[in-house]
Amino acid sequence: MKNKKVFILGMARSGFEAAKLLAKDNEVWITDIKEQNEQDVRILKELGVKYIITNNPTDLLDESFDLLVKNPGIRKDHQTVEKARNLQIPVINELELAYQYLHVNTHIIGVTGSNGKTTTTTLIYKFLCAAEKSAFLGGNIGIPFCQFVLDVKENDYIVLEVSDHQLCDVKDFKTSISVLTNIYPVHLDFHDSYDQYKQMKKKIFAHHTKEDIAIINKDNEESLKITNDILSSKQYFSKNNVEDCYLENDAIYYQKEKIIDTKDILLKGSHNYENIMAAILAVKAYHVSNEAIKSVLTTFKGVEHRIEFVKNIKGISYYNDSKATNCESTKIALKSFQNPTLLILGGLDRGHSFEDLKDSMQNVKYVACYGETKKRIEEYCKSMKIPCDSFENLKEATLMCYQKAEKNDVVLLSPACASWDQYDSFETRGNEFKKIVGSLGEE
Ligand code: ADP
Repeated sequence: MKNKKVFILGMARSGFEAAKLLAKDNEVWITDIKEQNEQDVRILKELGVKYIITNNPTDLLDESFDLLVKNPGIRKDHQTVEKARNLQIPVINELELAYQYLHVNTHIIGVTGSNGKTTTTTLIYKFLCAAEKSAFLGGNIGIPFCQFVLDVKENDYIVLEVSDHQLCDVKDFKTSISVLTNIYPVHLDFHDSYDQYKQMKKKIFAHHTKEDIAIINKDNEESLKITNDILSSKQYFSKNNVEDCYLENDAIYYQKEKIIDTKDILLKGSHNYENIMAAILAVKAYHVSNEAIKSVLTTFKGVEHRIEFVKNIKGISYYNDSKATNCESTKIALKSFQNPTLLILGGLDRGHSFEDLKDSMQNVKYVACYGETKKRIEEYCKSMKIPCDSFENLKEATLMCYQKAEKNDVVLLSPACASWDQYDSFETRGNEFKKIVGSLGEE
């Protein structure tokens, strides 16, 4: 792309990387409503990018622009986006932009779905690395494609986590392999309807022919429905039936060949078997060996903040599941353990009920709660007859669990609430938990 005038709407990481990529050969304007990281701004200014903080980006956009690159989090009915469409200025996002800069033949593996994207994407990348393939990891996982697209060489592997937000504004973007982990009704606040959300997810298979591969969850009805008429060669994974990859007698099989016993897998939770099977199908298309796959599965402890093993202190295992910001995720975490569990709950109060946890609390012997929701959690535990104490903060809650836990117990931070009452993100909350646990004692 050369000699174009480009408007970037919304900075953050992806806007920053898009601006850096474009700045060499184009005139670039970037706007945001909030001041951005000082160092990033300095870098952009040195590259000649025009950086404007404004509540009215729409006024800045006129027909002199050739392209609008919008942050994936911005809705399609945003005033500036609508104005661009009226002015017939193409609207794309950072993912599409990076794709347009890609000028070598590569293998792109895109992973989307309602849940399990980050874990599956990470597994695929790790399997490829274990097989000594030259691979890149990026996308919605926090590493914008624009950041590394110019480093990609012929026949490299690019593993991308692709969110439904990102799929809204891609045009030519095409993968060689697309993975759809599952589809559930989430993110409906962003899309007009569940139907529209599903149609966006389906775009991960856009431009596919039968040379390309679609990896689909056979146990998830919605995934089967939306992939009914795609042109890709389909491969299925299942926890219930014999498919291309499947679970049987506590082991994972690929094309009827045993890959690994589940007891040898470090990742916790049967939901992760789905992510593992999807990842195996993706890399088996590139002939990655069972040994490479096994070497990852017997050592990889999980993505940070997702049922992440932290430490064992005197026979008690501590797990950080700070990413669990709703009851659904906490239920998944609770299902992953058979041991007596001391559960830390609490955080931002969205008025949501904790009743949904009911059927998953069998192993919970104690709840330590804190944050805005602590009163309601206490009431809920009382109704369930589960011992519970409330605390001011995560540190106090964790220390009490440390005192109460006995050998073979699990102490689990899986708060079922967003972190924003006391933290800026679930990552900060999870890091604090790990720091507290780290200071508690030795193995
Ligand atoms: P995403 O990137 O789609 O948010 P992650 O891999 O980060 O997914 O996992 C986030 C949470 O989603 C996990 O902690 C777990 O609660 C849940 N989860 C992960 N994989 C699955 C799956 N295959 N099916 C259902 N829930 C899952």
